[in-house]
Amino acid sequence: MPLKTDALIIRENNRIGESDRFITALTRERGVLQASVRGARKVSSRSGSATSLLTYATLTLTEGKSKWIVTDAKPQRVFFELRDDMKKLALAQYFCELAGVLGPREERADAALRLLLNALHLLGTGEREPALLKAVVEQRLLMEAGYCPDLHACRRCGKQDGGMFLQPLSGLVLCPDCSLTTTEGIPLTAGAVAAWRWLITADEDKIFSFRLSPESLLPLAAASERFLLACLNRGFNTLDFYHSVE
Ligand SMILES: [Zn+2]
Repeated sequence: MPLKTDALIIRENNRIGESDRFITALTRERGVLQASVRGARKVSSRSGSATSLLTYATLTLTEGKSKWIVTDAKPQRVFFELRDDMKKLALAQYFCELAGVLGPREERADAALRLLLNALHLLGTGEREPALLKAVVEQRLLMEAGYCPDLHACRRCGKQDGGMFLQPLSGLVLCPDCSLTTTEGIPLTAGAVAAWRWLITADEDKIFSFRLSPESLLPLAAASERFLLACLNRGFNTLDFYHSVE
């Protein structure tokens, strides 16, 4: 039984000398999956252009022996505007790599797909700062995968307002008074704490609708990244590349 599903192409891998393309897609129906696209690299191939990186397409797939095979692909949205800007492209590729690691598998991925599509759209239009989009994508994908910091209150004294220091390994926060004896905390302004609380509790359709001053956005972005890397205990080539062109 073929599977027909909307999908964002989050990785494409073209092997030298082969006309086939191998892709990783974030699909609405089945989450992250790998597939091959026969003859995708032939000039006349329609499915070729619809299965390139950062394309949102309707895919028809059949299950092969070891992986899925794309038998038809119709593009719905190609994020051309991201391909012409090195910084935006680098960040978009990081979003894709993150989705490939944290996205659902063998189950529906409506929320993750909407998150990625909205983030790529806003990245392209420039309506939101890249650092803000990055923090939202990181934290919402982490939440989907079961990771969430506890930003409710200082873990020692219970203080809830003001700036905090995030402990990246535990995901707990300490107020400035209580953090004096540790060295691992990442400083968060009061605005950054409030924004982070918002982005782990807000409804999906409002998640990008906040703004932050640079004084709070930069600490939020830095802490979000440190927390993510600590949770996953790994790095990302696309993230390193983003920082190299940022
Ligand atoms: Zn405290």
